[in-house]
Amino acid sequence: MPSVTYSSTRGGQKNLDFRTVVMTGLARDKGLFVPDAIPQVTKDELESWRTLKYPDLAVKVISKFVQEDQVPAEKLEDIVKRSCAAFRHEDVTPVVSVGGHKILELFHGPTFAFKDVALQMLGNFFEYFLETGSNGGRLAVLGATSGDTGSAAIYGLRGKKGIDCIILFPRGRVSPIQERQMTTVQDSNIHCVAIEGTFDDCQDLVKASFNSPEFRERVKLGAVNSINWCRVLAQTTYYFWSYLRVTDDVALREAKVSFSVPTGNFGDILAGFYSKQMGLPVGKLLVATNENDILHRFFTKGEYHREPIAKSISPSMDICVSSNFERYLFFLAGNDSSKLAEWMNTFEETKKLTITGDLLEQAQSDFSSARADTKMTLETIRNYSENYGYVLCPHAAVGVNAIHQTGDVHESMVSLATAHEGKFPSAVKQAVDPLPTPPEQLANLLDLPTRVSECPNDLEAVQEFMQQRIDERIAAETL
Ligand SMILES: *Cc1c(COP(=O)(O)O)cnc(C)c1O
Repeated sequence: MPSVTYSSTRGGQKNLDFRTVVMTGLARDKGLFVPDAIPQVTKDELESWRTLKYPDLAVKVISKFVQEDQVPAEKLEDIVKRSCAAFRHEDVTPVVSVGGHKILELFHGPTFAFKDVALQMLGNFFEYFLETGSNGGRLAVLGATSGDTGSAAIYGLRGKKGIDCIILFPRGRVSPIQERQMTTVQDSNIHCVAIEGTFDDCQDLVKASFNSPEFRERVKLGAVNSINWCRVLAQTTYYFWSYLRVTDDVALREAKVSFSVPTGNFGDILAGFYSKQMGLPVGKLLVATNENDILHRFFTKGEYHREPIAKSISPSMDICVSSNFERYLFFLAGNDSSKLAEWMNTFEETKKLTITGDLLEQAQSDFSSARADTKMTLETIRNYSENYGYVLCPHAAVGVNAIHQTGDVHESMVSLATAHEGKFPSAVKQAVDPLPTPPEQLANLLDLPTRVSECPNDLEAVQEFMQQRIDERIAAETL
């Protein structure tokens, strides 16, 4: 059976293979790559996966999308298993029962946030594709970060052959722990750059670099942002895993399992949606937002209307548009790329997309939603700490607050805990005092030596810096 093929949501690129989609990231027509067909998992097959350990389950789920004609089976197994081995917990993403529902702990990876699940795997796929001829064997990954993405990318790419990873962050505006997680990595292929400016300035520098064709080609620019299909794919495994752990309980064996997902760019919950389409018995998918609630407004009123960013205590969900949402809109448009392109044009021109009638009903049957502001989030953190001795991070608390708001607290409800509370001490301290002892790896960060460069907020300066670093590394490799 040949592997799944992919096309752009906007119709400009069709029938691409997994390798091309992973190496390209964003389609040339600015659309996102989506699978042309969703592989199915039967009930018997799912049941036969019950006894598998997480890494073996991950191989089964991912090989539904990536077959022998793309990556040889033993290579795929090696990539997937090495990605799982980077986690501190044997179950990779353990499921615990707290307060009458389940919590799926996604924070046992190197940077204590769920993005590790995807970026460990993406790093290993990049390395394999470069080794086997893609891109002439070189890739310069450029990203901007205000927090979690930068460190997860750095840990996914450190030491990888053929790859340079350049992460721009706004000088003095990233939390001390997040900055240290990036700048204490000593591998010579990692280049952290503090920019004299804001996060938006950093993002503009990245965008402008991708929009300079000559530079892009010369340095072999690549991206790790959340629109890469590989990231969504990697995340599907933990929906299968947590479904199986919930239904290990014979009383719940026939239950549909629901998920509450603290959401920003819609990448995490989208993996749940694809899992459901593959045949996983999923009940509700609950979109949980903070004050940046464009998705909550969409699922309650049909209004996908852009508003300015509000600063919250769950910074990794502070977005004004959701970069992965286009993949769901494509589904809602009945996989019609011209209709989707029209919607996206309307949105790009007016900052507004409104749906009504049957479409809104369809969206509301696919997802429900809730919004938790700072006060509600802190209350949930305090409540869980006092009543269950379980300390939630501010992102996870948004998801847990959502199930209390919607009355969905039951044993087949899984709330996704996307980061470790120890990463957000100043927010958590407002609800829990004294704070729990932080994990050693986070506590130690403050004593480790750092490596960081500084650059003005200037495109030419940044591009020159990148070229210089890449040249130095190529020279060192050929010595
Ligand atoms: C990135 C992130 C999120 C949001 O995930 P999306 O895929 O963007 O919806 C939530 N929590 C944490 C801790 C994150 O780092």
